[in-house]
Amino acid sequence: MKKVLISACLLGEKVRYDGNSLLESSDIIQRWVEEGRVVSVCPEVSAGMSIPRAPAEISGGVGSDVLSGKVSVLEDNGRDVTHLFLSGARNALALCLENEIEVAVLTDFSPSCGSSSIYNGDFSGTRTKGAGVTTALLMSNGIKVFSQYQLKEANKALQCVPACGLHRTRVARR
Ligand code: SF4
Repeated sequence: MKKVLISACLLGEKVRYDGNSLLESSDIIQRWVEEGRVVSVCPEVSAGMSIPRAPAEISGGVGSDVLSGKVSVLEDNGRDVTHLFLSGARNALALCLENEIEVAVLTDFSPSCGSSSIYNGDFSGTRTKGAGVTTALLMSNGIKVFSQYQLKEANKALQCVPACGLHRTRVARR
């Protein structure tokens, strides 16, 4: 039974920066839970960040830029939390490797878990195209990352594994 990594906040866990969840009521997720496929992760909390915590955004770039050391992740109070976001991303990748996970559903727009877009770093509520730090690391290791708005696509990808031969020889890059 192939497993799927899911952002903890989508599963109803109150791990977001504001102490809330983003529970995604979905028949697809419910079935995955019943089938025992779901592995939950909150990269930020796994790295030791508190609940609640100050909002953070990637400053002047996207997740891949953080991975390459070009830009930082800053809280709205100016504190540099780049190392925590990198640590959380590595924790999520480790879970994927341990559980042979090739499909993830992560919360869009988050500086960790975003996949289609993230906030642009000036805390104005403006989004920019790009992925968060965890998503960028998972994708660079061949894991297919979907948002909560792409559950049908994620389910299709999950059913396709391993028949479609996804990422069978993945080499971890941490
Ligand atoms: Fe949800 Fe990901 Fe943010 Fe954790 S880091 S609260 S799992 S979006």
